[in-house]
Amino acid sequence: MSQKINTLFDSHMHTPLCKHAKGSPLEYAQAALERGLAGIVITDHIPMPAWFDAPWRMALSELDRYLEWVLQAKEAMQGRLEVRIGLEADFHPGTERFVEKILGRYPWDYVMGSVHYLGAWGFDNPDFKEEFEWRNLEGIYRTYYDLVAQAAQTGLFDAVGHLDLPKKFGHAQPALELAIPALEAIAAADMALDYNTAGLRKPIAEIYPAVGLSTVAAQLGIPFVLGSDAHAPAEVGYAFEEAVQTLEGIGGQIVTFKGRARV
Ligand SMILES: [Zn+2]
Ligand SMILES: [Zn+2]
Repeated sequence: MSQKINTLFDSHMHTPLCKHAKGSPLEYAQAALERGLAGIVITDHIPMPAWFDAPWRMALSELDRYLEWVLQAKEAMQGRLEVRIGLEADFHPGTERFVEKILGRYPWDYVMGSVHYLGAWGFDNPDFKEEFEWRNLEGIYRTYYDLVAQAAQTGLFDAVGHLDLPKKFGHAQPALELAIPALEAIAAADMALDYNTAGLRKPIAEIYPAVGLSTVAAQLGIPFVLGSDAHAPAEVGYAFEEAVQTLEGIGGQIVTFKGRARV
């Protein structure tokens, strides 16, 4: 790997506040230090309106606790590892103003916009994966990428989280073309893509986004933000060697965000 691990950030990881991750922010930071990374961005799931996906995220009343917890880790790591504060926000039509308000409450370093729902269907939830049998796969991807394009057009986010997420349980994207309008919207909005190694740990066993999609993205000038999507400290920096090698092979640019600006 020509880009050294000690220059890299892992910009996607969670905390137990989302109710499906373990380890304190300090433990994630310590894991990154042991892994030899330059820094991390903690990006837990944003609070959303009470009716939306409540079992899988912090409540609005926990947002201050989140900030406090990450700031403690940042302070404890001073001079050893850079700790930045972000969010994995959701894009779900109708919730934009709520999300905008949360984003205005703190000077975040990095905010991803992720689509986890098609209507009421949480399509990346293993409990609901049977739904894939009832729908047309191309239709799923069309609906999904239409939402991604809308997310890009809101101007609320720095990057799109795990771009080709519907493939998670093994339902690979039937045609690359389905993603082109969304990629063009991402490029037009000057956004980046979360280059997410968690896909390697799922049935599809592939980074999000797939190599073909990432190649088109790189050609459109879209940069990439490395992220493990760690839900446990041991996953920090997961498969970053492979990720960097693939990105270098396709001419992809690796960036991070600080104060919502590209570094
Ligand atoms: Zn996600
Ligand atoms: Zn995540």
